[in-house]
Amino acid sequence: MMEELIDELIKFRRELHANPEISGEEEDTSRRISSYLKDQNPSEIIQFKRNGLAAVYDSGNEGPTVLLRADMDALPIEELNDFEYRSKVEGISHKCGHDGHSTILLGLASLLSVDPPQKGRVVLLFQPAEETGEGAQWMLDDPSFSKISPDYVFALHNLPRFPLHSIVHRTGTFTAAVISMVVKFRGKTAHAGQPDRGINPALAIAELLIESNRLTHNRPEDDEFRLVTPVHVSLGKPSYGTSAGLGEAHFTLRAWTTDRMKKLASDMAKKARELANKEKLDCKISWIQEFISNVNGPQSVEAILNSASKNGLQTIEVDRPFRWGEDFGRLSSKFRGAMFGLGAGENTPDLHNPDYDFPDELIETGVRVFKGIITQFNY
Ligand SMILES: [Zn+2]
Ligand SMILES: [Zn+2]
Repeated sequence: MMEELIDELIKFRRELHANPEISGEEEDTSRRISSYLKDQNPSEIIQFKRNGLAAVYDSGNEGPTVLLRADMDALPIEELNDFEYRSKVEGISHKCGHDGHSTILLGLASLLSVDPPQKGRVVLLFQPAEETGEGAQWMLDDPSFSKISPDYVFALHNLPRFPLHSIVHRTGTFTAAVISMVVKFRGKTAHAGQPDRGINPALAIAELLIESNRLTHNRPEDDEFRLVTPVHVSLGKPSYGTSAGLGEAHFTLRAWTTDRMKKLASDMAKKARELANKEKLDCKISWIQEFISNVNGPQSVEAILNSASKNGLQTIEVDRPFRWGEDFGRLSSKFRGAMFGLGAGENTPDLHNPDYDFPDELIETGVRVFKGIITQFNY
């Protein structure tokens, strides 16, 4: 690849890094990406509601539509780095490398502008709100998405702790199914000297915490892997004359398949209602930030491995899925495809850590791997 292009891409990535936006607010990011894409001769740019966008490269000939996805959102994390392109926004920074993922697709757009597909279409999709598990569904629900109807979908995520430039792959489940649960108990406040005249949710919350531990089977090597993690609990107020009347408990639930995660969720909900009944509490349960598990098809993994081998990259097969949720599951559960990891270096800080930064060396690698994939379908 031209050195000039690489330099331009690194500059672009650092601009995104310096100007991060959290999930659902990617207006400026989307505008920057769109303005870059306009110079790369796409057949069409599709603008979705809520900042998502896609560049379509249509060969005009029959053939498959291959969609490649990048994400655009940053996180509500204060950056600890002090390099010159550090986040200009207090409390927000790109700590998952989505600035890099978006830049990789722009690099591919640049290649496609001079070497367009000869068969079918290539669609470069930039999705908002990956971190909250919402953005993919927003685009699937957008009437404009029907113009795409992909035959194959691919995405990558950079992965610290794996050797730089290695391709991390797995057939079958690649990332966990995840959902977050909010349980709100409403009882009745009373004088702290007469708690028996009120209804205090303390016991129900305590028992639900114990249940979360009982339902957990934290053995990732088992298909039956289940994780219920308490993330937040609150009860009453530090007002010492009052027995609490309100309490809530928040959890994230994880399993290797969406079906097993749903069973786990229903077990937790059943217990919460049982406890509410027993204690005569009002109970409201809400479910947020659901991630469908990513299931990689064998043919799609094959295409990734072919590209890796053509590009002379090391490949690493992981023997179990990753525990994080990835919004790409909404796409990979609907269309044939696969997600893979791109090693970000063994000594790179972990994702979501305040000192993390996307390694610029990966931009070229990502572009090459994606190009190698579409070459098998669209040339
Ligand atoms: Zn993330
Ligand atoms: Zn991410």
